[in-house]
Amino acid sequence: MVSKPQIAARLEKITGRENVLTAREDLIPYSFDGTAALQQMPDCVVFARSREEVSQILRLANETRTAVVTRGSGTGLSGGSVPNDGCIVLCTARMDQILELDRANLTLAAEPGATTLAIADAALAAGLFYPPDPGSMKISTIGGNIAENSGGLRGLKYGVTRNYVMGLEVVLPSGEVMWMGNKCVKDVAGYSLKDIFIGSEGTLGVITRALLRLIPKPAAKKTMVATFQQMDHAAEAVSAIIAAQIIPCTLEFLDRTTIHCVEDYAKIGLPLDCEALLLMETDGHPAVVADEAAEMERICRERGCMEVRVAKDEAEGAKLASARRSAFSALARVAPTTILEDATVPRSELAKMIRFVEGVAKKYKLRIGTFGHMGDGNLHPTFLTDERNKDEMHRVELAFHEIFDEAIRLGGTITGEHGIGLAKKSFLPKFAGEAQMAMMRHLRKALDPYGILNPGKMFD
Ligand SMILES: Cc1cc2nc3c(=O)[nH]c(=O)nc-3n(C[C@H](O)[C@H](O)[C@H](O)COP(=O)(O)OP(=O)(O)OC[C@H]3O[C@@H](n4cnc5c(N)ncnc54)[C@H](O)[C@@H]3O)c2cc1C
Repeated sequence: MVSKPQIAARLEKITGRENVLTAREDLIPYSFDGTAALQQMPDCVVFARSREEVSQILRLANETRTAVVTRGSGTGLSGGSVPNDGCIVLCTARMDQILELDRANLTLAAEPGATTLAIADAALAAGLFYPPDPGSMKISTIGGNIAENSGGLRGLKYGVTRNYVMGLEVVLPSGEVMWMGNKCVKDVAGYSLKDIFIGSEGTLGVITRALLRLIPKPAAKKTMVATFQQMDHAAEAVSAIIAAQIIPCTLEFLDRTTIHCVEDYAKIGLPLDCEALLLMETDGHPAVVADEAAEMERICRERGCMEVRVAKDEAEGAKLASARRSAFSALARVAPTTILEDATVPRSELAKMIRFVEGVAKKYKLRIGTFGHMGDGNLHPTFLTDERNKDEMHRVELAFHEIFDEAIRLGGTITGEHGIGLAKKSFLPKFAGEAQMAMMRHLRKALDPYGILNPGKMFD
């Protein structure tokens, strides 16, 4: 059995003393992520700066059977980077270089700690576009985005992180380095192994480099906001927009509670007498954008919206979009504990699901603000609660179960983008079924026989 100080000393040898934290006060910021009510102190934190260091750290952990929890910026919302008791937190945030932007092949290569925003900005500077835009993009890392297969506000038209990963370098728990993928648009040689690591939540390997697909920057964009007195009318407008074969880049929703919190926080001038707000953005060729914007406005008016506000320019568009981008922060201000969920249903079931969440809030006397990616059927019912109130937390737990059961009953899923981590672990077997659970266990055991990577996350 190797002692804690021995492990720390060996880590210091690998990365240098300045890249290892062991003092209690230094470890506290690494003892939680963005998920409410989950905290555990690690034994130490190590900042890797290269693939070689990651490899040596994993070799050490494998040899000493020490748990490793990989961490990017710690913005995860399912507890994926919350430490295990006695673990090493391996933080890849300092490996943050953009390594290459290839204009001929429209690709960008980056280290795992590069922020999503830095990648999007580097693409823009070259006149190109990296579409995945999680609400946390200013600080979330590309390693975290890939490990969670994160979505964002543009997912409806452009898809999620997986759709932009062309290659991955991963260090396996044994310390072996594996590169998967290339710059070819087509490649069907063997199993698509890189896809197993996308969305694997730090349980199968540590991502040390990503090759990302870029696309041309859309020439024009229009942003608009429509407000509705009735939730059902907003949901009907969403269905009608999709049925009219318009795929806006953004089709987001805020309910009454969220609208009030956002207005209080961001002072955007949102109407407070409505039950639902839709944020819609269309982008592409200017003529198509103009047509789609006019058609979406017509559809919303036909469904009885109270008002449609069309942004005059990019600055006003950004202001309107900030209503949605600030939703989580705005809700987080009003209660000591904010628990953000991401139950997801087929789009046709959205209105039913939103009503169901409202009913659950009433039944359990809870305050829930709901917002989300309406066009994707991905809702974020957000519980405004207080983790010190044991009785209320019990009711929150019961409410969760009902919401997830209903999402599954409606043909949906227990998580559209935040992952399983610790928070949804108990729901996964019910959702995935025995055959899938067995396959996932076999796969994990094959790659990580000693169970050192993120043990206890996703499933035991
Ligand atoms: C305000 C706010 C808004 C958000 N909006 C969205 C949104 O719109 N869409 C969305 O999908 N999510 C959203 N999230 C959730 C979160 O930001 C994403 O899951 C993000 O991808 C996490 O990135 P991170 O760098 O913070 O990763 P972390 O939280 O540090 O880690 C997340 C997971 O990835 C693993 N991991 C991290 N780095 C690596 C690596 N190098 N190799 C292997 N595994 C690794 C960790 O072990 C963990 O399991 C939001 C969170 C917040 C706080």
